[in-house]
Amino acid sequence: MASPEDMVEAVTETTTTTNTDDGKPTISTVVIIIAMQTEALPLVNKLQLSQDHHFVFPEGVPWVRYHGVYKDLQVNIIWPGKDLLLGVDNIGTVSASLVTYASIQALKPDLIINAGTAGGFKAKGACVGDVYLASDVAFHDRRIPIPVFDQYGIGARQTFSTPNLIKELNLKVGKLSTGDSLDMSPHDETSILANGATIKDMEGAAVAYVADLLSVPVVFIKAVTDIVDGEKPTTEEFLQNLVAVTAALDQAVSQVVDFINRKHLGEL
Ligand code: SAH
Repeated sequence: MASPEDMVEAVTETTTTTNTDDGKPTISTVVIIIAMQTEALPLVNKLQLSQDHHFVFPEGVPWVRYHGVYKDLQVNIIWPGKDLLLGVDNIGTVSASLVTYASIQALKPDLIINAGTAGGFKAKGACVGDVYLASDVAFHDRRIPIPVFDQYGIGARQTFSTPNLIKELNLKVGKLSTGDSLDMSPHDETSILANGATIKDMEGAAVAYVADLLSVPVVFIKAVTDIVDGEKPTTEEFLQNLVAVTAALDQAVSQVVDFINRKHLGEL
């Protein structure tokens, strides 16, 4: 078991900060939240991160932290691990919220990147393999038809503005809608349309909610594995494209990490 001294070391190794030429503090610590192991591992390897052996999270939880120094950044990839009973990835909003909260508490990141795959709507111009930066996030499966609670359920919010990042990396930009189901019920479809979404995932709006509570900016990078309004069944298309699309996702995320290196938040 880690001693209290080990825990302090694990946390304090992430606090070096320098200034940009105009005197603003550069981004120093980044937390990348990724729901699935298949999405996370290629990036862990690319950035040469190693698995944490300190308990920055409560003992017994399956959440995994990979970390290391990449260029001038302390990079942490947080993957919520596998369900302790069923052995599948802890996807969805509950685990995403918990790891976002715990990571912010333990690591005090300057910036969070939520990276993952998503379904895309061809009617909105999405194609398999496209990488999107989400301009807005909202939920589509929290229907509460009582005045004001209805808006609370949808939880729509704009994401942190990154005009230079979008321009430099030539990313597509679209609205993201989040729910806890991979499929799309007619109710969800109505809400997703109302949210004006181009992409659909199972974590984004939850990460946004927690990060907003704790005032940490988030950038959402989502790669399209399946076309929701297409002919192919979602599960089949998702599994067919997961590995190839993950390569595009990881390339985009490493470009984002390269871009933010030595910059302050206002330069994104
Ligand atoms: N059967 C899969 C389950 C993946 S669930 C497995 O191999 O375990 C889908 C994951 O990818 C979630 O983390 C979600 O955020 C994202 N995703 C991809 N396509 C999606 C879609 N069409 N709708 C919702 N989430 C999607």
